[in-house]
Amino acid sequence: MSQPSPTGRVVVALGGNAIAPPGERSTADDQQETIGRAMTSIADLIVDGWNLVLTHGNGPQVGTLMIANELAQAVVAPMPLHFLVAQTQATIGYAICNTLEHALAQRGSDLSVVPMISRVLVGAEDPGWDEPTKPIGPYLDDEAEAMRRMEATGQVWGKIGDRGWRRVVPSPDPLALLDGHTLRMLLDAGAVVVVNGGGGIPMVREDDRLRGVEAVVDKDLSGALLARKINAERLVILTDVHAVALHYDTPKQEWLGEITAEELRALQHQGHFGVGSMGPKVEAALRFVEATGQDAVIAALDDITDAVHGRTGTRVRA
Ligand code: ADP
Ligand code: MG
Repeated sequence: MSQPSPTGRVVVALGGNAIAPPGERSTADDQQETIGRAMTSIADLIVDGWNLVLTHGNGPQVGTLMIANELAQAVVAPMPLHFLVAQTQATIGYAICNTLEHALAQRGSDLSVVPMISRVLVGAEDPGWDEPTKPIGPYLDDEAEAMRRMEATGQVWGKIGDRGWRRVVPSPDPLALLDGHTLRMLLDAGAVVVVNGGGGIPMVREDDRLRGVEAVVDKDLSGALLARKINAERLVILTDVHAVALHYDTPKQEWLGEITAEELRALQHQGHFGVGSMGPKVEAALRFVEATGQDAVIAALDDITDAVHGRTGTRVRA
């Protein structure tokens, strides 16, 4: 796999599950610690000269906020999903900013880390509105409890692999970044930017206005859009498994290493990659590689350094 040029940008997408310790009771301290651990490797890479732009998921975090809203609705007004996505951009961005600046300072770098509140355009007619696919919040083991919640609240819950049941919400396709100009200014000023967190705040255009909507955009698909917009030379998607697998979680499981976009497209059509989990990562990697001819990597957050160098995980090339 070829290496990005010294000034080439690399988009690093951090998985919401990988940066939040599992479980409903993960505290702010837990989250800051997990994020802080990842940021030491990110700081090493930046000090080594890698030009990174960061984005992150928010599935567990936005799901937790939804539960807090639901339980408190007799006392305070529940907030719509676009507000909750903005809240997760703020808290996760803050934790990244604080821990990464510290790690950079320890390595003698005074670079600024800037988390951006950032919006993405989605279509009012997107088929994703009719078929919720984006899993958010904690897992439930109990099918009867998932059914009970669906009946009592009108929520949609789906079975996610063998790990149990999870609430799913609409996830329309991101069409455009709405804060590209601000992003460009920050990048030109040399900042380390955290952008499009939680896939970006989903907006639809109505006449001359933008309106926030009830959805959570997939951060991997938004990450692919981001990588194209800033002419990145690599898209690195970090999650909680080592690579993309064929026959995932079965005795025939086989990890994919270096692969061409054409080969991966063919495997995608055979239905190997989970809807709402590995599916969008594969689609994001393919969109980026097919549009730009550059490389994409899907790997574990624990292998961050090797992943950015293109030495581990599933490496997709043109
Ligand atoms: P993230 O928060 O990083 O976006 P997701 O849970 O959305 O994480 O996606 C990663 C998960 O995808 C893995 O933990 C794994 O359970 C699941 N998965 C589904 N299909 C596959 C596959 N074919 N190969 C690897 N992982 C898969
Ligand atoms: Mg995901």
